[in-house]
Amino acid sequence: MERIFFFRNYARERFGKRIRKIPVALPFTCPNIDGTKGRGGCIYCYRGSRPEHLSPGTDLRSQIEEGIRRARERYGRKLGFFIYFQSYTNTYGDISYLRELYDTALEFEEVVGLDVGTRPDCAPEEVLDLLAGYRERGFEVWIEFGLQSANYETLKRINRGHGISDLVDATLRAKGRGLKVCIHTIVGLPGESREDFLETARLIRALGAEGIKIHPIYVIRNTQLARSYLKGEFSPLSLEEYASYTADMLEIIPESVVVHRLTAEAKPPALLAPEYCTYERKLEVISSIEKELERRGSRQGSKSGVEGTGGNFKELVEEPGRLKG
Ligand code: SF4
Repeated sequence: MERIFFFRNYARERFGKRIRKIPVALPFTCPNIDGTKGRGGCIYCYRGSRPEHLSPGTDLRSQIEEGIRRARERYGRKLGFFIYFQSYTNTYGDISYLRELYDTALEFEEVVGLDVGTRPDCAPEEVLDLLAGYRERGFEVWIEFGLQSANYETLKRINRGHGISDLVDATLRAKGRGLKVCIHTIVGLPGESREDFLETARLIRALGAEGIKIHPIYVIRNTQLARSYLKGEFSPLSLEEYASYTADMLEIIPESVVVHRLTAEAKPPALLAPEYCTYERKLEVISSIEKELERRGSRQGSKSGVEGTGGNFKELVEEPGRLKG
C-alpha cells in the first residue's frame, strides 16, 4: 500500500503513462535579490535552486531536447513530459518574454504541460491569464508558490520578503483560473518547532492546494545560513526528526493532494549539512518517511478531517481543539 500520493502515481493515473518533469534554467532573477523586494535573497538561497547540470546560458529548446533524451535513455520511449521552470522566479519577466518561453516549451509533442516555480508575490493577473490560456488549450498547468512557513516571524527571519497574505491571495487567484497550485514548505527553519510545521500544513490544507513540496532545510556554503551554522547558532534536523515531522504534516494533508517532492539534494563540498541531503541518499530519506508512517499505522490524510477548502474552519467551529495535531 502506498501511504503517500506521489506525483508519479498521480501523473500515471491522469495521463495513462509515465510522466517525467524536465527541469530547465532560464536567465531569470528574483525580486528578493535584485532590490525590488530585497537584496541578498532568502538566507539559504543558493543559485535560486538551479540544478547542477543546467546552465541558464543554454537555449531553452536545447535544454528540453537534452532532458527528453536523458529521460528516454533511462525510462524508455513511452513517456510524457512536464517542462519544469525551476530556478529563480519564473514569472518575473516581461509578459512577451514569458509567452515566448512557455510557447517554446509546449511545442514539443510529448509535452503535456507546464510546471512553473515562482514566489507568491510574483503572480500578476496577466501572467496568470497567460498560464490559464494554456490550460484552456488542453495542457495541464501547475504553478508552484514558495511559502516555506506559515509563521510570519519566520518569513522575516529568513528574509523571504513576502507575507502569508501574498500566498493566500496568489493561491486563490490561480485556483480561480483552474491552475493547479503546489505550495513549497521547508521543515527545520531557524527558530521553528513542530507546531510551526503543523500550522504550515494546516494552511495548505485550508487553501485547498492541489500539490505540496516538503524538504528539510539544508546549509550551502557561502549563504547567510551557512555563516550562522558555522558560528554554531543553528543546527539542521537529524533524518529521524525530519521523517517524524514530515509524517506529522502528511497526516494533516488530504490524501488527494499530490506530493511533488519530499527531500532536497546538493553536492558536497557545497553542502555543509545535513549529511543526508545528497543525491545518493534521496531514496533513503523518502523511505524513512514512509517507514515512519508505516510504524504509526497511518498515511497521508489520516488526520486531514474534512477535505477541501474551508475544512479547517469547519473543524474549528464544530470541534475546537481537534486541530492541535
Ligand atoms: S525566492 Fe527563491 S530565488 Fe528568490 S531569493 Fe528566495 S530562494 Fe532565492
